Amino acid sequence: MSRFIQIVEVGPRDGLQNEALALPVEDRVALVRQLEAAGARRIEAVSFVNPKRVPQMAGAEEIMAALPPDPARSRIGLVLNMRGWDRCVAAGCDEANVVVCASDGFAVRNQGSTVAEQVAALAAIVERQAVEGGPPISATISVAFGCPFDGEVSQDQVVAIAREAAALQVAEIVLADTIGVADPWTVRRRIEAVRAAAPDARLRMHFHDTRNTGLANAYASVEAGIDVLDAAVGGLGGCPFAPNATGNIGTEDLVYMLERAGFETGYDLSALIAVGRQVSERLGKAPASSLARAGGFPA
Ligand code: ZN
Repeated sequence: MSRFIQIVEVGPRDGLQNEALALPVEDRVALVRQLEAAGARRIEAVSFVNPKRVPQMAGAEEIMAALPPDPARSRIGLVLNMRGWDRCVAAGCDEANVVVCASDGFAVRNQGSTVAEQVAALAAIVERQAVEGGPPISATISVAFGCPFDGEVSQDQVVAIAREAAALQVAEIVLADTIGVADPWTVRRRIEAVRAAAPDARLRMHFHDTRNTGLANAYASVEAGIDVLDAAVGGLGGCPFAPNATGNIGTEDLVYMLERAGFETGYDLSALIAVGRQVSERLGKAPASSLARAGGFPA
């Protein structure tokens, strides 16, 4: 078995965004560099949200300016609207990850617009990219397995959004379990349903380990044929809707599980473990990833 599974490192964005302590720009640049040295080829480095709303993500432009362009790396910027897209293009990101929420409750509370308005915003961004140029666009469907406000999110709703994103020919569609409520069987069914509705779309999965189902969901995804998964070094982050919960699945945990089984990821596990321990220490907390505690095997 030598199938390559690509892991998109989201620690500097999704991880740090949900940490109580806001790291300064220089620490976040250092983290991106350390992760790239440990093997990250695609990395969600910055977020173009309003820094007044998310102070942890302030300084996106400075971070991008401090990272020299590298054809072997892709630095992704998170985008919620046209203003974010314009900032992302100006900052020189290699990819944009545009978020569309799967429920109106989350859409309105988190981004101040409805799902339909967010789909329209995605379409407008794709249109602007076609005219003026810009990096490839991924569309992340957030709360695709459950919403903290509206409760259950139906498969039909997720499929409908995925179908619209696929019609816009985005480079990739991401199903995100933003609050960590998915189970592996549902994951498989949603992947199959989205694939049936959008057979040409490249799919990527994004899991939080809030309720300890993160790696099982990653396993189910790989078994369902998914080749691209998100993870955050050290299991960084938390869940704003579940106090004391852990964050994204840990990159080192995912790398260990996959490489132990014979998959390739391109990461250096021991370097990754060291980065996870270091950033957790910087944040003043114990690393959430199991590998940061236990180490790899064989030693
Ligand atoms: Zn997330």
